[in-house]
Amino acid sequence: MSNLIDDLSNQTPEFILEVCEEINARDASGSRGSFKGLLKNAPFGSTSVVNCLSQQLIAQLQVIMPGGFISYDDLNVDLSDAAFPYVQASAKQGLAKAIQARGVKMLVNSSYRTIAQQMLLYNDRFNNPNPVAPPGRSNHQTGLAIDIEDPRGWEPFLVQHGWSPLPGDPPHFDYLGGGTTDIRSTSILAFQQLWNINNPKDKIDEDGGFGPQTEGALNDSPAHGFAKAPWDNKPRVLKLTQPRMEGSDVARLQESLKKAGITVSVDAEFGPGTDKAVKEFQQKKSLTADGVVGPKTLEHFA
Ligand SMILES: [Zn+2]
Repeated sequence: MSNLIDDLSNQTPEFILEVCEEINARDASGSRGSFKGLLKNAPFGSTSVVNCLSQQLIAQLQVIMPGGFISYDDLNVDLSDAAFPYVQASAKQGLAKAIQARGVKMLVNSSYRTIAQQMLLYNDRFNNPNPVAPPGRSNHQTGLAIDIEDPRGWEPFLVQHGWSPLPGDPPHFDYLGGGTTDIRSTSILAFQQLWNINNPKDKIDEDGGFGPQTEGALNDSPAHGFAKAPWDNKPRVLKLTQPRMEGSDVARLQESLKKAGITVSVDAEFGPGTDKAVKEFQQKKSLTADGVVGPKTLEHFA
């Protein structure tokens, strides 16, 4: 907390109070949702403050490369606070085989880092003892990287399935097994597209490069996500995940649950309360009560 106050020393007392209230409220419930302001004003310390913008960037990346960049949260893994469990499809195959071969749960501290998360780290680079890559340049933007617990225990299993340890960075492994592409500029392109959809009068070049124009736009982006999200056109499956799903689609789901007579708070974040409400709704409709909201469950809302 003291670090946060130092970082905010140039801000007005009202602004600092607002930020602290936001963070305290989230901490009490055991999670941290997105910061309600622009990325450039977001507090440092946790990349989860850009959670919703990050989810929009991942969804837009998936629009560009359908089936090529996928979640591995269905594998036997445990994820830390702000780690997005996404890798390229062939890297997931290798990961699945390694986890199955060892037969224990893998603890993942970091994996795909969105360019919004990287921007936060980059904005704070002068306070970081280690070098921080600009957005699009980190090896955590390749969709081929994981940082894990017990790296030495995992090494023989991972190496056998295409994952290589990074010398000098013990928790880090990269997938070098082939069948992959360099998606780092695609990550930037996804942002540029999302920005242009939402700012038709202030468009930026869609060139996949991270120049001053894109850096300015990214800093001026809402940490809690743009008004027009990729899932407005292409619905995503909603469920309880780590990090929690946030967005307009979650808010709409919560509104629909309320209309169906089920108690739930409309906060646009899919937490345990929403999970419970969805299962209650599914039970009422004689559906499989798994808390997963796909097309089948959606069609039961009047
Ligand atoms: Zn790493």
